[in-house]
Amino acid sequence: MAKRQFKAESKRLLEMMINSIYTQKEIFLRELISNASDAMDKIYYKALTDDELVFNKGEYFVKVAADKEKRLLTITDTGIGMTKEDLEKNLGVIAKSGSLAFKTENESKDGHDIIGQFGVGFYSAFMVSDEVTVISKALGSEEAFKWKSKGADGYTIVAAEKDTVGTVITLKIKENTEDEQYDEYLEEHRLKAIIKKYSDFIRYPIKMDIKEQRPKEGSEDELEEFIEEQTVNSMVPIWRKNKNELTTEDYENFYAEKHYGYDKPLKHIHISADGTVVYKAILFIPENTPFDYYTKEYEKGLELYSSGVLIMDKCSDLLPDYFSFVKGMVDSEDLSLNISREMLQHDRQLKLIAKNIKNKIKSQLQSLLKDEREKYEKFYESFGRQLKHGVYSDYGANKDVLQDLLMFYSSREKKLVSLNEYVDRMPEDQKFIYYAAGESIDRIEKLPQTELVLDKGYEILYFTEDIDEFAIKMLMNYKEKEFKSVSSGDLGIESEENENKSEEENENKDLFEAMKSVLSDKVKDVKASKRLKNHPVCLSSEGELSIEMEKILAQMPD
Ligand code: ADP
Ligand code: MG
Repeated sequence: MAKRQFKAESKRLLEMMINSIYTQKEIFLRELISNASDAMDKIYYKALTDDELVFNKGEYFVKVAADKEKRLLTITDTGIGMTKEDLEKNLGVIAKSGSLAFKTENESKDGHDIIGQFGVGFYSAFMVSDEVTVISKALGSEEAFKWKSKGADGYTIVAAEKDTVGTVITLKIKENTEDEQYDEYLEEHRLKAIIKKYSDFIRYPIKMDIKEQRPKEGSEDELEEFIEEQTVNSMVPIWRKNKNELTTEDYENFYAEKHYGYDKPLKHIHISADGTVVYKAILFIPENTPFDYYTKEYEKGLELYSSGVLIMDKCSDLLPDYFSFVKGMVDSEDLSLNISREMLQHDRQLKLIAKNIKNKIKSQLQSLLKDEREKYEKFYESFGRQLKHGVYSDYGANKDVLQDLLMFYSSREKKLVSLNEYVDRMPEDQKFIYYAAGESIDRIEKLPQTELVLDKGYEILYFTEDIDEFAIKMLMNYKEKEFKSVSSGDLGIESEENENKSEEENENKDLFEAMKSVLSDKVKDVKASKRLKNHPVCLSSEGELSIEMEKILAQMPD
């Protein structure tokens, strides 16, 4: 039996695969199970147009079994199988996808659920095994064949015995080395966990014989072992279910199962998009700030699935930084399974999904603010700072998305108010949105500069966080009303006072000059002010920076 060589480029690709494309070895199982699922889908799609062919759902499954002693792992499916030519074509040439060809042939509406299209997934088996054997019997064929390979040096194909249609793939699992662990791929519980993680939502049952214990009959405390065939995957993912079928508790369970957080989600967003981009998503807004949220360690991102198969744990391209607190997952049929991180970044489809998701999150937060005020305040307490950072970063590019979501403490309401609420109740003669910056609400209330504005009956927003004023400077205005610090030189309410100001200033000229020379480099000027009532003196600033901002900037390292 002559050994056949992989095509030259295939050889190189195989080396590359094994060494670099996949960072986690465990995904080999995901790839083989996806292929099995595709193979069963192919019978399903064929049956749609072929009257002779009946598709009994109960006959289709994947079975995963490990033999520790022999170090063998087998993955069996009842799918469409491969002829000798198929084995040659699809497994003999790397980057040749029979599934892609199937989809192209059945272009119409059929086959869109089939996962494969890149033709490299199968070879990931060599990351964990020294030798791979594929025995397959194709639908409509009397003969079965065995394909066998030890990796880059080629493969053989011979006739084989197999009664039923389908494919059995056997991996000879590598021995442990000093740096690499392979034994785990023969451990039932580890295999089960890998299947759960990546292939939970494959539409066919994935079965395993699991060793369990039960009380021995006729005995109180003795246990006996027994083997039970279990379906490991849950098959129908919650995001494919209809919203009306699901309760808040279902979403909360999903949030907990997925370890998105230890808290309960404040709000869930279930998206089923059918427009220019087709995808499903379940997103959560957590209630509490994760302990590492405002640190460099925090990693944003959503889980990304392609037709129910996990491709990435944390796809950061799906979330803008200012919504980095959002947890959840996205499933799209339009993404390929073996897509690399680099390729994903440029994927048009993914960009559309990201944009879509951003808008959904924004509108959900807006309705939370409108309809569930208490929840929104809770949310804002946890993540408001991130929104303000979002306004400030990227030179204000995102201010349109974020400005309606901002809240600040109000002198009038003694609680958080949105900019919209502030502007809505402004008296007609009020020209600016006033704010006062300080270390705490208490201290701001004592600021002499607030007196005139409050006396006028105007509301003041209190800025207690460093980022507040920076964010506002980036906004510049809201609904055409400019922001004005109460300590700025011109408050826009002193017009009537200006006339007798010069008089007063002339009278006290000497005094002011004397004060100025004493304070020399500490102040730029000393002027008479009508702004004060209970306080004899206050500081004010002209130009761009407020006193508070100058303080912050002065603290920053050069
Ligand atoms: P992809 O799934 O992206 O097409 P793979 O390398 O995973 O690439 O598989 C290559 C091809 O081999 C598949 O397209 C399919 O035609 C064939 N194949 C692999 N596994 C099976 C299987 N279990 N049953 C039938 N055909 C299979
Ligand atoms: Mg595949």
